[in-house]
Amino acid sequence: MHAILASLTGRALGVSALLYLGFVAALFVASKWLPGRIYDGAPLPDGTRLKYKLNGLQLYLLLAAVCAVGSALKWFSLAILVIHFWALLVVANIWAFSLTAILYIKGKRAGAKLEPGILGVVKDAFMGTEVNPSFLGVDLKMFAYRPSLMGLGVLNWAFAAAQYQALGHLTGRMWLYQIFFFIYLTNYFQFEHGMLYTWDIIAEKFGWMLVWGDYVLVPFFYCLCGWYLVDNVEPLPAYTAAALIVLFSVGFWLFRGSNDQKHRYKVDPQAKIWGKPPETVGGRLLVSGFWGIGRKLNYTGELMVYFAWTMTTGFVSFVPFILPLWLACLFPHRAWRDEQRCHAKYGALWEEYCRRARFRMIPFIY
Ligand code: NDP
Repeated sequence: MHAILASLTGRALGVSALLYLGFVAALFVASKWLPGRIYDGAPLPDGTRLKYKLNGLQLYLLLAAVCAVGSALKWFSLAILVIHFWALLVVANIWAFSLTAILYIKGKRAGAKLEPGILGVVKDAFMGTEVNPSFLGVDLKMFAYRPSLMGLGVLNWAFAAAQYQALGHLTGRMWLYQIFFFIYLTNYFQFEHGMLYTWDIIAEKFGWMLVWGDYVLVPFFYCLCGWYLVDNVEPLPAYTAAALIVLFSVGFWLFRGSNDQKHRYKVDPQAKIWGKPPETVGGRLLVSGFWGIGRKLNYTGELMVYFAWTMTTGFVSFVPFILPLWLACLFPHRAWRDEQRCHAKYGALWEEYCRRARFRMIPFIY
């Protein structure tokens, strides 16, 4: 704790503010001006659809290329981000709270329905005042996933840079961790259009809860393993590496496969699932593919992916496991909330679906 506080010097905070805000601004400019395919959003309550330019994949690969080339040619070292980690965290928090205030004022000016009193202000700032706030034509909620996940990616690379600086090479554990994460993040941006149909984008207002989650929690907490890999020179046995690759691959197949099946079904209700026309309940709920085996296998798969990369740290500490264990608590709660919503929306069809797909996340157990 003392070391953390000692690292928060005025200079460190200044450098971190430049790095952090420069990064967010550069991503915003690139999101706005880099070319990208235009997608329709989900229908709004008035039946219209917003347009989204989605160029996240190009942007992420460009960022990876810049970081790789810049590091290889020694133009900069990403290790500076590890040195300034805590100062960056402070800056990110200040930014998240400031953005929340800006969004609140923006919503108020736009005529959003607000709760009265001081508690009302806190509630509205926390939950948000607008569903789709935008700036210069960029949807701020969709944009926030970029600094969030690209920031997470850069922080992960920074841990690799710090290890390279200290050891002169990367360990097998670090390589595996980086590869797993790179696949996961690249795939996210490849499937960025799928986010347009998620609950957060369709229905949640953009307030502190999502702002802080995107700008602080995800980049700074989800890279937790990095701290436990930098100094870990314990060799990774081949059989452990093979087991982790299997766990990651199966988890990824479940996670990506189920999300993809649902997305394809929503976009085209006739789209084949595992080579056959889709089976549905009442033409509205998919019962084919993964969705006939479990109602939330996408959560199960993602959890396996998280455990796979966490286990690259070995069992040197319990701390890196806090992340997948936290998700293991969050997902059942989220599944329960989502099912309440689906029950209210689909009524008897949802009950019929639950009879056909009896399990949520683990067949025959849960
Ligand atoms: P889902 O992708 O499971 O979406 C739930 C919605 O899908 C439901 O509200 C319903 O919406 C629709 N739906 C549910 N069952 C069916 C069915 N059988 N047929 C057709 N539609 C169905 O959940 P999330 O949006 O919570 O998660 C999206 C992804 O994000 C997941 O892969 C999850 O793992 C990941 N995630 C990751 C987190 C992290 O921190 N790493 C945190 C949260 C999520 P509708 O009204 O449209 O029918």
